[in-house]
Amino acid sequence: MPFLFDPPPVPSLPIRGSDVRFPVHRIYCIGRNYAEHAKEMGAQTVSRANPVFFMKPSDAIVPEGGDVPYPPATHELHHEVEMVVALANGGRDIDPARTLDCVFGYGVGLDLTRRDLQAALKARGLPWDVAKGFDASAPVSALRAASEIGHPSRARLSLHVNGATRQDTDIADMIFPVPEIIAELSKLFELKPGDLIFTGTPAGVGPLQRGDRFRAELQDVAILEGRIS
Ligand code: MN
Repeated sequence: MPFLFDPPPVPSLPIRGSDVRFPVHRIYCIGRNYAEHAKEMGAQTVSRANPVFFMKPSDAIVPEGGDVPYPPATHELHHEVEMVVALANGGRDIDPARTLDCVFGYGVGLDLTRRDLQAALKARGLPWDVAKGFDASAPVSALRAASEIGHPSRARLSLHVNGATRQDTDIADMIFPVPEIIAELSKLFELKPGDLIFTGTPAGVGPLQRGDRFRAELQDVAILEGRIS
């Protein structure tokens, strides 16, 4: 039977050095995955027992950055630079020793956040969804295949805004490294090919204004450049 109307296009990302695209299924995110960022957000302790997961809709992707519209209903749009993991295989209850077999490759992205909404929702014990899952809230670079670059466990992750350094760390500082994130997520969801995982942001989150130019980089993996419009 035909669809009532044309189905929406499949969100996708380019793959560096390839003429096929990576189709995006879901976008999972982990929060509080760098101790210094958890502290700046006022978290008392960082628990390794309970990783904090949330999601963004797949059509929140802004492939390769470019012009990113300033979202409505906020006066405090914040940047969170993050390594992004792209899965080509999935499953449930994945053996931690086999999680990297699921990874297609890596990129860098911004987990854009309406911080004022998030703070108000957190204060009332309400879900954060509208603070995180808004339109164009997930600019992501082109992906690099793990078959080319391996699985980086150390690499500089940085964000410059209008030429000034805002965030700068090494992904080795993650509280939950990538294999553990995948293993934990697969206890909660059946992971699928096409899933993206935002792996958390280091300290230094801060506001973006209309006209700001950003440059996010995961060393030797990916660069994402764009402008808030
Ligand atoms: Mn984040």
